[in-house]
Amino acid sequence: MKKVGLTGGIGSGKSTVAKMFEDLNVPVYYADDRAKWLMVNSVELKEIIQNEFGTESYIDGKLNRAYLAAKVFTNRTELDKLNSLVHPAVRKDFDKWMENQNSPYVIQENPLIFENENEDHFDVVISVIADEEIRIERVMSRDGHSRGDVVNRIKNQTSDQTRKSKSDFIIQNIDFNDTRSQVLKIHKKLLA
Ligand code: ADP
Repeated sequence: MKKVGLTGGIGSGKSTVAKMFEDLNVPVYYADDRAKWLMVNSVELKEIIQNEFGTESYIDGKLNRAYLAAKVFTNRTELDKLNSLVHPAVRKDFDKWMENQNSPYVIQENPLIFENENEDHFDVVISVIADEEIRIERVMSRDGHSRGDVVNRIKNQTSDQTRKSKSDFIIQNIDFNDTRSQVLKIHKKLLA
């Protein structure tokens, strides 16, 4: 079973493209959602986070999001540290999830494949790209964030130029129908 990583910057359309693969019956693992789930539900990960960030990270067994957010959002080192704790847990969870899939290939949708230098974990990496202005407008209308917020997020992520050079496939997500046909083409190649 091939492991395919699907990534892209904020607003590029990763989730949208992941759903298109799901429509073709490809199993998709959503790393971000799963990471959030593991932080709340994995006894092992909870313990590791508490050891690093303090027992205040959880209140009555529930994740103290405000506390953790305050720590990591203002401090790059702390954010990297949290990622480095969550990342191995997601990796393990993904490998376990894969054992229950029956498909020539599976996809992990993960916004941080390159940021985490995790590309070697995949047989194939697909990046979704779109012009910055389009992405800014999409995210502003999806999440109600200000332009400045979105621009900052984009600046902190891997550039599309780097994505292009490090990916096996690029999907240019501008027009839905055109994106769908690019997805279908890649799907056929991955099945071949
Ligand atoms: P990401 O997961 O990369 O942040 P999403 O898939 O959530 O991006 O897409 C961001 C927003 O843009 C969503 O509201 C989505 O519906 C919209 N969107 C995605 N692709 C297109 C497209 N080709 N045309 C118009 N809107 C799109």
